Amino acid sequence: MMRGGCLCGAVRFEVSEPASDLYHCHCSMCRKIHGTAFATYAVVARLAMTLTKGEDMLSRYDSSPGVTRSFCRRCGCQIAIDVAYQPDDRWFMPGILDDPVHPGAGNRERHIFVASKLPWLHLDGVLPQSEEA
Ligand SMILES: [Zn+2]
Ligand SMILES: [Zn+2]
Repeated sequence: MMRGGCLCGAVRFEVSEPASDLYHCHCSMCRKIHGTAFATYAVVARLAMTLTKGEDMLSRYDSSPGVTRSFCRRCGCQIAIDVAYQPDDRWFMPGILDDPVHPGAGNRERHIFVASKLPWLHLDGVLPQSEEA
């Protein structure tokens, strides 16, 4: 069982199975909403991720139609993404797991939307990169 939560501790969750996909997204929306150079996502079955604390502290924002991002309304930490056209899956942020465990799908780890990558960010070329998704 992987456990994680937001910075202020209001929102806590568990993930009961290894991720099926893992990527670092460099698109401008992900950079904006996380405030970072890129955002890292792990994909699991929606039922495998359980909120254990703070449902009432979650706010939701549709960054594009059918893409709903959940975040702690106190500290702003991004918790998960639900995508309407993939109702069985949920994206979570492995960077907010309590322990530095690998979330799974290491063989799938890659950089996406590198066409939108910040020009000053250096990638070492170890992981695959795609221009878009
Ligand atoms: Zn919080
Ligand atoms: Zn993105």
